[in-house]
Amino acid sequence: MEPFTLTSPAVMTIGGAAVDTATSLDVINPATGRPFASVPAGDRTHVDAAFEAATRAFQTWREDEEYRRQSLRAMADVVQDAAGELTQVLTAEQGKPLSESQREFAGTAGWLRYYADLEVPPEVLRDDSEARVEVVRRPLGAVAAIAPFNFPIMIGFAKVATAFRAGSTVVLKPSPYTPLATLRLGELLGQVLPAGVLNVLSGGDEIGPMMTTHPLARAVSFTGSTATGRKIAAAAGDDLKRLTLELGGNDPVIVLDDVDVDAVVEQLFPRAFNNNGQACVAPKRIYVAREIRSALVDAFADRARAVKVGDGFLPETVLGPLNNAPQRDRVATLVTEAVAHGAKVVTGGTVIDGPGYFYEPTILTDVSDGVRIVDEEQFGPALPIVEYTDIEDALRRANSGMFGLGGSVWSADTDRAAAVAQRLETGMSWVNTHTAISPAMPFGGAKWSGLGSEGGPRGLDGYSDFQVIYRSKKVPGSRV
Ligand code: NAD
Repeated sequence: MEPFTLTSPAVMTIGGAAVDTATSLDVINPATGRPFASVPAGDRTHVDAAFEAATRAFQTWREDEEYRRQSLRAMADVVQDAAGELTQVLTAEQGKPLSESQREFAGTAGWLRYYADLEVPPEVLRDDSEARVEVVRRPLGAVAAIAPFNFPIMIGFAKVATAFRAGSTVVLKPSPYTPLATLRLGELLGQVLPAGVLNVLSGGDEIGPMMTTHPLARAVSFTGSTATGRKIAAAAGDDLKRLTLELGGNDPVIVLDDVDVDAVVEQLFPRAFNNNGQACVAPKRIYVAREIRSALVDAFADRARAVKVGDGFLPETVLGPLNNAPQRDRVATLVTEAVAHGAKVVTGGTVIDGPGYFYEPTILTDVSDGVRIVDEEQFGPALPIVEYTDIEDALRRANSGMFGLGGSVWSADTDRAAAVAQRLETGMSWVNTHTAISPAMPFGGAKWSGLGSEGGPRGLDGYSDFQVIYRSKKVPGSRV
């Protein structure tokens, strides 16, 4: 297989113009562990220029809703047209198989079209002979949008779609691990957008705080780890920037005793291991009834042994490498620690020899709360299966800890499952599915998994403020 190379150099887009820098940052292909491209390393002057451009552009961008809808549709067309080229770039920098990269671009176009078409009528609270009272939304201005490495395009451009529908403008920063496809898409989208409404910066983590404390940033929309989210909440607090935080998750799955085990594992396995477990709402710990525990463990282990792991460019690959060395090492450490606490590795459990950040799909049993792989987010292909004694025990374990992103309950009886699912302390609670998401749903986490939500009309909250317009129908001095 020929190694992937970029056809054009990566540039940042600021105020509608391509910008290169004197210093650069290497981008590593996770399948080889070697650098294959570089991106501009921005600094404070670029951050300033981006927010100045976004603030200038906001003055006219905010005025014309119909034009913004048309722009969102034109952006969706660009994303779809560019997907052929950019799918390869995304796989080369992120590691996911080409088919998953394709799905990410299709999903991104879906977000753009959803917000292009969304109607947000004013909320009329009162309309009588005395007064008309309505609630409208006012855009905020320049938004700092910061994305993680797992779904760089869909997460980054869902933020852009929502901000644009609200009338705000954006300075977008991808993860230093996955900047390439975002930079290229920013460049291409510049052809259908007014200068300055979308500015894309690259560089190391240090660009993040420059954005979240920037005086011209009126809001911060962040998706990433809870640890970074906490720092951002503190940084943005100083001048009360609006905040949307989509943070880490440790999704519990409760499997009741009446299920068809093979059918359930057929559904759960891909959801837990998709993108190599690097998904915020992946099932991350399975709680299973004692009666069906061993059948469920066997079914998971059979699938884990059979799944094809390899370079995302190979057509047979189902799971690629982890995105980066620290993430691969974290998974390895959590598994080693669990084993030291008595966990049994049913299958997997080791780093795959050779170049790249590959780790064996891993199933663990004989592990429980109090061990990090159960209590924390592993964000990788290692899944602990924990036995529960009764439903109350399962719920207590599922709700323990400070994560509250998603969770699911599986049963042959959907009413029985729903009664349990509604007691999960999560932003999303599924019955007989998991990771079912759409742009129309408000996606957000409870507890330490986030603040605010993205998607649907509620998603606009992070990019606009409410305004109550109270219009008295009595004109002072008038007799009518
Ligand atoms: P991360 O927190 O390490 O980095 C995310 C982004 O924040 C990167 O662009 C990084 O450069 C930037 N950043 C780092 N330090 C910063 C700072 N002090 N101020 C501002 N920005 C800073 O996260 P990651 O490892 O890229 O992503 C994985 C995490 O993201 C997981 O915890 C996962 O669950 C979470 N995630 C959550 C959702 C959700 O919707 N809830 C979706 C995807 C991923």
